Amino acid sequence: MAVYLIHFNEKLAHAQHYIGFVESEQGLDKRLTDHLCGMGARLMEVCFERGIEWKAVRVWFGADRKFERRLKRRKCAARICPVCAGRKALKRANDFPNGKLK
Ligand SMILES: [Zn+2]
Repeated sequence: MAVYLIHFNEKLAHAQHYIGFVESEQGLDKRLTDHLCGMGARLMEVCFERGIEWKAVRVWFGADRKFERRLKRRKCAARICPVCAGRKALKRANDFPNGKLK
């Protein structure tokens, strides 16, 4: 399993990130391809409709749904996104599955 973070090149309403989860790491490529076609998540569908470009900027291999939910709840995506926060971002949110987010 894996959790991934997508950064949108333009803001979509208030959102500039999407955090997703895949059951199998092998499924990640397919999920990202789905997102490219606007499938798999409502937010990614809107992105597709509006022609907003995006990139997958981080992947946490081995991270579970709990970690995904924690990231979402914290609304900390910009702080852990290397596009938004630069290299500092990579020092954050590294402590799954058992620790706290920094
Ligand atoms: Zn970002």
